[in-house]
Amino acid sequence: MPAAIVTGSSRGIGRAIATRFAADGFDVTINYLNQEDAAVDVAGEVREYGQESTVVGADVSTVAGARELIDCAVDAFGGVDHVVNNAGIDHHRYTPELDPADFDRIMDVNVNSAFIVTKHALPWLEQSDASPSVTNLSSILAHTGAPIECHYSASKGALISLTRSHAAEFAPEVRVNAIAPGHIETDMTADRHPGEKERQREAIPVGHFGQPGDIAHACAYLREATFVTGEVLNVNGGETMR
Ligand code: NAD
Repeated sequence: MPAAIVTGSSRGIGRAIATRFAADGFDVTINYLNQEDAAVDVAGEVREYGQESTVVGADVSTVAGARELIDCAVDAFGGVDHVVNNAGIDHHRYTPELDPADFDRIMDVNVNSAFIVTKHALPWLEQSDASPSVTNLSSILAHTGAPIECHYSASKGALISLTRSHAAEFAPEVRVNAIAPGHIETDMTADRHPGEKERQREAIPVGHFGQPGDIAHACAYLREATFVTGEVLNVNGGETMR
């Protein structure tokens, strides 16, 4: 049975991707930072689809955490066929008030994690005969930038460069793509001011925010798209047309 790892999959987009992969016939390694109960729930959902699941608590922004995640996934499933680098954090500060340590933390979690998880998974991905792939969760802000989120935007831009570099380096054995979501309704976006949310919604041509399942659908497409590598799939209701 092919096996996937989804980082940060105890909630939100990661959870939707993990259960979508299970629905599509994959065993899934669920990774969490500090929400063990929620991660165990996701593993239960995976099993309801008749697939196996293992749960690994690990901080993927550290080399030790990334290594542990891959080792546990390989112990459970004998290899790795697909990696989704989904774990990420957001933080809002104007540059004059932005502590360089917070800038570094965003880069560690959002970019360095994707590098080190992919690096440790690579030997296993290269052995897979299931059209192995890596999918990195970037953001619309990689393209547009955003006031009060220079560090988040920069991290998501770096993920696109990492994606293209890894796609070139790992071809033809392993495909690497990115998804750049627009506004998706999750805990990450829940605390926005209602007025600000309404302004954001009006900027979206399809007239509504995205749902985690929209990103899971894009991720399933990239997993199956054997002629696609080094690409960034924008999933944002048309927002970047404007
Ligand atoms: P979320 O906050 O609901 O989930 C993020 C998950 O990552 C959480 O489960 C969290 O515990 C986990 N995580 C954070 N740091 C971690 C670490 N060091 N190690 C392991 N796990 C860690 O956010 P979401 O909205 O589901 O976002 C998922 C991804 O999609 C993120 O990379 C985010 O930047 C990106 N994204 C989200 C949106 C959106 O509108 N929600 C838009 C663009 C991009």
